[in-house]
Amino acid sequence: MPNLDIHLFPCLKDNYGVLIRDAESDVTAAIDAPDAAAVEQALQEKGWRLTHIFTTHHHNDHTGGNLALKEQTGCTIVGPRGEAARIPGLDKPVGERDEVQFGQFAVQVLETPGHTLGHISYYIPRASVVFVGDTLFTLGCGRVFEGSYEMMWDSLKKLARLPAKTMIYCGHEYTLSNAKFALIVDPDNVALKRRVAEFEVLRAQGEPTVPTQLSAELDTNPFLRAHSAAIRERLKLGAAADWKVFAELRERKNKA
Ligand code: ZN
Ligand code: FE
Repeated sequence: MPNLDIHLFPCLKDNYGVLIRDAESDVTAAIDAPDAAAVEQALQEKGWRLTHIFTTHHHNDHTGGNLALKEQTGCTIVGPRGEAARIPGLDKPVGERDEVQFGQFAVQVLETPGHTLGHISYYIPRASVVFVGDTLFTLGCGRVFEGSYEMMWDSLKKLARLPAKTMIYCGHEYTLSNAKFALIVDPDNVALKRRVAEFEVLRAQGEPTVPTQLSAELDTNPFLRAHSAAIRERLKLGAAADWKVFAELRERKNKA
């Protein structure tokens, strides 16, 4: 089984940058490039040479470093076909079910629109890892800026169907704010309460709450739990369609 090294580092205000490396093939990728200097510093610390950037969506806090890094390293930039014109330096536009070879690893593209219309996630089955940008967060999900609630719900469902052991890397550290909201809509969830206590300790120590395992998110993330009878009862949405429960949750979180 080939080994994928993964290095997560905080940057900008609350973003995470991620580097992945297949040492045997001597390839290194940045998952999004929030800030060129921060990515460059992480590369230097590791002694890795950048060969790829995998962009999830066009927002500046995910693409701001693209051009400078490409100029410095000559890396290949892979990104969403659906918003190709808005991805600086894009070399390789990709969409649903495209597969990009990264050393010994096949990287599968999943379209996960809603936060933005062209947003994509990158799933690496051989490493049981998925990079979801601003679609899903630890105990939360991205704001629905460009798509519809139904579209975003479909994207979350697509991620929820990956193998439960999959480790999820997201673009921001929003966990304590997400936790506060999750406890309001799902207060009797024992697994949720246990996780929140763990996350409070981690954050107090300055440690990240990313990555997060899909199995744990399925048990505790309200935005993946629109089917939950307890949440439905609290929202007084007994028999509504799942996506409508999701929409109500997202709107309440916006106002929280
Ligand atoms: Zn974003
Ligand atoms: Fe973002």
